Amino acid sequence: MRQFMYGDDGDIFYRRSVDISEMMIPVRCLRCHDGIYDLTKVEVTARYIDCSMWKTPCCDQLVDDLIWTGRAAYVNLDRNGHDERR
Ligand SMILES: [Zn+2]
Repeated sequence: MRQFMYGDDGDIFYRRSVDISEMMIPVRCLRCHDGIYDLTKVEVTARYIDCSMWKTPCCDQLVDDLIWTGRAAYVNLDRNGHDERR
């Protein structure tokens, strides 16, 4: 199955063609495991003292940035597009 996501300009693009070089904080979605998006471009829906919540642009899941809960919503990517090890 091919996953797709929407770019800033509304165009659909596929993961292999995602250009992360323009992204401030490229991350890979751990909900659908295929979406890649810029963490600085997400639309934050709620801000709390210890976390923010947003909808993933790839699979429309409501996620937060509480990475220590063991259900991290994303993993950071390095400049080669590979998962960064924490
Ligand atoms: Zn996703």
